[in-house]
Amino acid sequence: MISFEIPPEIDKRLEFVRRIAREQMRPQARHFDEHEHEVPWDFINLMWDAALKTGQSFRSGTSRPDEGPSFVSTALVHVIESLSWGDAGIYLCGPGAGLGGAAIEATGTKEQKERFLARYREGKPKWASMAMTEPQCGSDTAAIRTTAVRDGNEWVLNGEKIFVTSGHKSLMDSEGLSVIWATVDPTAGRAGIKPFVVEAGTPGLTVTKLEQKMGIRASDTASIVLQDCRIPLDNLLGSAEIVDRTKGFKGAMATFDATRPSVAASALGIARASIELLKDLLEQEGVTIRYRTPRNLLSAIERDVVDMEGQLRAAWLLTLKAVWLMDQRRANTIESSTCKVKAGDVVTKVTQKAVELMGPLGYSRKLLLEKWMRDAKINDLFEGTGQINRLIIARRLLGYTSAQLK
Ligand SMILES: Cc1cc2nc3c(=O)[nH]c(=O)nc-3n(C[C@H](O)[C@H](O)[C@H](O)COP(=O)(O)OP(=O)(O)OC[C@H]3O[C@@H](n4cnc5c(N)ncnc54)[C@H](O)[C@@H]3O)c2cc1C
Repeated sequence: MISFEIPPEIDKRLEFVRRIAREQMRPQARHFDEHEHEVPWDFINLMWDAALKTGQSFRSGTSRPDEGPSFVSTALVHVIESLSWGDAGIYLCGPGAGLGGAAIEATGTKEQKERFLARYREGKPKWASMAMTEPQCGSDTAAIRTTAVRDGNEWVLNGEKIFVTSGHKSLMDSEGLSVIWATVDPTAGRAGIKPFVVEAGTPGLTVTKLEQKMGIRASDTASIVLQDCRIPLDNLLGSAEIVDRTKGFKGAMATFDATRPSVAASALGIARASIELLKDLLEQEGVTIRYRTPRNLLSAIERDVVDMEGQLRAAWLLTLKAVWLMDQRRANTIESSTCKVKAGDVVTKVTQKAVELMGPLGYSRKLLLEKWMRDAKINDLFEGTGQINRLIIARRLLGYTSAQLK
């Protein structure tokens, strides 16, 4: 049975995470927003040491279902929500296999998972990024132009990737890796696109640029150029064979099924932070929310706050359902996209409303409300925009392929 209670084992782990969020992340949030590209090493080292000690990653990608309890994903979204309540940008700097690790988990063989992910359980902090987006391709993944050509015992990669989260940390700041999506057959559309692991320090791979962004400014977002970048043959995750030219690339979908609830959880951590601060500020002005009063007797502000809380709760329950299905090893594509769409909408509207209700104070940099409004929007953008996730849900519900409904 699905349960919306926090299991005691998770609650215990959350005590540590909540303390870090409150005492370390929140006080540093403004600093790292104003010093883009400065790396929060204190936070990184703390989280890395804790992950090594407990054997549990605070980012997705290294959970080993054979070893862990049956609520690995559920635990993770609680952790991510709490860390993002502290600061979503700093949370994204957290070390671990992250999105790249999720791609390896979703598409790699048992041997590849061990070979590429073992490093995230030892030594110094490391990251793994995943690079799909290119200058001419984002939502339309069939337009990926990066090529992978076999040459003897190697793949030779050529192309450019942009907007790679933790691209710099995974490839320049650590002995990490990036999962690069490239086509082995440009005539085969999505079916020809495969994931390749490129290790930090591989000749032919250059990190060329760091983006300057509106929100989550602590998180590095990099461009990568691959020029005759040679990697071993068995760094292709899964098989090079194109089984069915009409089918899309399942590995990418499986990756996003696993990670979209994490994006939703991060969004909802920001939304909860905004509502809590808003309520504190309102209370200081003598406005308390009369929850047991009929709606028609509430003030406009009270109705707004009640609506914000209701929307937050709805999005959180959708997120828990998506990860519960994952922990049960059941398909969750619809639920995963649904919770991400809902959470992206909720965090965007809630943070905007919080700024609005506080008037000029909301707009001022004195408070974090304006920052959270900027941090919020990315959740409706990366790992599939709101529109693309709505398309995925519609296709699944109506039984259309991506060629039939686009
Ligand atoms: C901070 C940040 C971090 C990122 N991290 C990563 C990362 O780690 N790895 C990675 O590979 N990418 C990453 N991205 C890229 C992100 O995933 C893409 O920006 C996103 O997928 C949208 O692609 P696009 O920018 O090409 O926009 P487009 O696809 O051009 O979309 C522009 C607009 O058109 C809409 N649209 C597009 N197609 C349709 C359609 N068929 N129907 C209806 N509406 C449509 C979109 O929803 C959007 O509103 C990141 C982006 C940012 C900003």
